[in-house]
Amino acid sequence: MYRTHTCGALRLTDQGQEVTLSGWIQAIRKFGAITFMDLRDRYGITQLVLGENLKETLERESPGREFVIRVRGRVVERSNKNPQISTGEIEIAVEEFIVLNPSRTPPFTIEDQTDGGDDLRMKYRYLDLRRSILRKNLELRYQVNRVTREYLHQQGFLDIETPFLIKSTPEGARDFVVPSRMNPGEFYALPQSPQTFKQLLMVSGLDRYYQIVKCFRDEDLRADRQPEFTQIDCEMAFVEQKDILEMFEGLIRTIFREVRGLDFEGSFPRMSWEEAMWRYGNDKPDIRFQMRLVNLKAPQGAYPSFEPELQHSPLHQKETGFRVMDEAETVIALVVPGGSETSRSELDLLTDWVKRPQIGMKGLAHLRFPAAGPPKSSFDKFFTATGLEELARFSQASPGDLVLILAGPEDLTRKAMAELRIRLGQNASLRDPDQFRPLWVVDFPLFEFNAESGGWSARHHPFTAPGEADLPRLMAPANRSPVRGTPYAHPYYQIRANAYDLVVNGTELGGGSIRIHRREVQERMFEALGLGPEESSRKFGFLLGAFDYGAPPHGGIAFGFDRLCALLGGSESIRDYIPFPKNNSGRDMMLDAPSPIGETQLKELNLRLNT
Ligand code: ASP
Repeated sequence: MYRTHTCGALRLTDQGQEVTLSGWIQAIRKFGAITFMDLRDRYGITQLVLGENLKETLERESPGREFVIRVRGRVVERSNKNPQISTGEIEIAVEEFIVLNPSRTPPFTIEDQTDGGDDLRMKYRYLDLRRSILRKNLELRYQVNRVTREYLHQQGFLDIETPFLIKSTPEGARDFVVPSRMNPGEFYALPQSPQTFKQLLMVSGLDRYYQIVKCFRDEDLRADRQPEFTQIDCEMAFVEQKDILEMFEGLIRTIFREVRGLDFEGSFPRMSWEEAMWRYGNDKPDIRFQMRLVNLKAPQGAYPSFEPELQHSPLHQKETGFRVMDEAETVIALVVPGGSETSRSELDLLTDWVKRPQIGMKGLAHLRFPAAGPPKSSFDKFFTATGLEELARFSQASPGDLVLILAGPEDLTRKAMAELRIRLGQNASLRDPDQFRPLWVVDFPLFEFNAESGGWSARHHPFTAPGEADLPRLMAPANRSPVRGTPYAHPYYQIRANAYDLVVNGTELGGGSIRIHRREVQERMFEALGLGPEESSRKFGFLLGAFDYGAPPHGGIAFGFDRLCALLGGSESIRDYIPFPKNNSGRDMMLDAPSPIGETQLKELNLRLNT
């Protein structure tokens, strides 16, 4: 028998019992003739005391860190109790000590605070996973998985598997492809998501589908992206947007309650994409803190609902003589409350930050609105004192505040301001990690204009339905005209999608849409995306065909499971919640994959390398 108890089980009430424990040696401390060891397993740590009686055994075996051992002994009260651990009131007076398997000295310390770098720890992931921090992350992951399954089961969802060796499903990334030996010259694609399958399951009448499933996307890996990741993927038939939002708000509430003991008050707020972009600069606003953007100038037609606000801007249709502002497509201000005394060097740091290539701005203008006296700015010579004050007031600054201003092309400037807002919120400790603020972002544009190709692409994916009111805009033959000048004036730009994202604390946790379920609409959509009838029938003929056989109205959503776990665990890094992750170059350090394959295998696959 290897054990009567685990290393986390014994308490003072077990005093006097003879027990057998097995586990790994976490630490060894020698005090003269007595040796103390910390014995670790998944459940905890128990202190062992080895006296004179085991002197010879210890000399013979010379155990070290990470040896696997089995001990038999008696539970005794500890004189020096450790309230930090559950077994801290007892120790085991060891009578028998057996080494089950020795260990080499591990390449890094297996403690909460380890000395191993990322790649080293990934190479020895099986050792890294011995650390209690990572073990707890996997426990949390399991709990989220279990609660999700239970909730969806209660709601009548069926967990249905879908294949991995498929044909492309477009989610906006590149496909990973797999050569087919039996069909020389032909390839499968790994699913970027089960999107088309879950829709087909609705056509089949399965009504409520879910799967906790791997998805594969060959993207350039920005920090915290993984080429394979897990989604909670769901689809429902005969639903409208509000049915989906209610159902999955319920899921998220249940998960937060069961896993974090947290109850959200009231229903999740809903914000239009336009408002999110206008006030926060991106479509995943962190609403834990205010600091909203103030638009001084924006391209006409880009945010129609907010145009009346712009009319009052001091920059509206006015030349100031300050070319940076006059020539910019977009000018956005952000107020730093109480920041009027910000030092020159701090402003320089922020300026350098927005000028970094990742942000790409040319500079950062500022305006101090002191508690007493007139405003002072980095562009004083172009404004009168009253003009400056007007600018400050329009930006909603109060005396004592600082106004930061960015000017440039619309997309770049808005994105930069969104990032600056997050950075300032972070610096001012306004992003409280213990606070969770979920919201639904809705009414996304259906299309995105791609200036390089001069064409439109789907903002979500090509199966997303337009809002009912906008359907005629998509269907009208007259609207197929190419874009001339800015895209904002084109009727396609105005089409809103029946799509929604769930955002928590500035992180997009999930997204989905009501789907197109009629063939002619789907065909129009493909056409708008530049797919000719032949290409769309080659790529998606199966789906178009299915729509001919009574496809019900349907819609769904998918959540990033790894990210959800990281958020619940209070971490920014999804890697810490994935058992065997890849590094930033998409490499599995432990397996050393990807790796070359041999000549024979290449031949078998009918492949020749071009190098
Ligand atoms: N398939 C979509 C995605 O992976 C989610 C959805 O529309 O349900 O983002």
